[in-house]
Amino acid sequence: VVDHQVILVTGANKGIGYKSVELLSKSHPESVILLGARDENRGNEAVSKLSANNVHFLQLDATDSKSIDAAVQTVADKYGKLNVLINNAGIGSSSGGLEEVKKTFDVNYFGAQRVIGSFLPLLKKSREAGEDARVLIVSSEVGAWSHNLQPEDLQKVLDEVDNLSVQQLNDLSQDFLTSVQTDKKSMYDWKDLFNGYGPSKTLVSVYGRVIARELKGDGIVVVLLCPGYCATDLNNNSGYRSAEQGAESINYGLKVKLAETGGFFQDGHAQSIKSE
Ligand code: NDP
Repeated sequence: VVDHQVILVTGANKGIGYKSVELLSKSHPESVILLGARDENRGNEAVSKLSANNVHFLQLDATDSKSIDAAVQTVADKYGKLNVLINNAGIGSSSGGLEEVKKTFDVNYFGAQRVIGSFLPLLKKSREAGEDARVLIVSSEVGAWSHNLQPEDLQKVLDEVDNLSVQQLNDLSQDFLTSVQTDKKSMYDWKDLFNGYGPSKTLVSVYGRVIARELKGDGIVVVLLCPGYCATDLNNNSGYRSAEQGAESINYGLKVKLAETGGFFQDGHAQSIKSE
């Protein structure tokens, strides 16, 4: 079967996203692979380094709605559809200061939501044409650890996915940001992990489960993935796996079936979104 898919990987000028594009360009030679990057120079450099004729640069900053809208318009004009969105862009934070924690949430949690929400119409269009449509969210096992650290009452809310809305998750994200400020009282007794990085990944995983439930009827698959601890700039190259191994773990999401939508996978194995 020749598949002419359109696949977008965000934050793909380096690290796991870059390797994901490289692997996809080889495994899907008939497909268009869009290498998303917030910086035009870094994005174009990454594309030329790959020298694959099915890879194209797409400017996309997950924190900038205008940039996302322009990216959606470009994809709509050039291809008229999107089959796979790999939401990979992410940042860590080295200090626990409120500003840095907010920035981390703005990319890892709110950014994911902005990008996914904006590309949904194009994904739905692919489904309506009888083609595959899916969203892969690069989360982290760190989010699973952080999930498990939370007080019982909060875990109960996060676990009852059927009763959760995206708005409630956004309120919980704000509540976490409130908890970071020592002079303010949050609703829940949040436990932080890695300066907001852990909670940002906990919440993006739960967000993925909520939208998986909402989009199942449309036939759109949503998959949560962990690349494992890979040596990239995000962790000053301290990871013990290669970025390529991480990319393989992510790209497995292309094989996940609708029956498994909302699942969390690492290296092709289903994981719990809360674990020690
Ligand atoms: P890198 O730092 O190597 O790459 C991150 C990518 O995200 C870069 O291309 C970066 O672009 C991009 N990015 C950052 N902010 C934005 C933004 N606002 N809009 C668009 N793109 C942005 O990290 P990794 O490859 O390690 O991380 C990729 C994903 O994997 C992240 O979601 C991370 O949380 C996750 N992950 C990584 C693990 C690891 O061990 N490395 C483990 C578990 C999960 P720029 O070059 O412009 O900064």
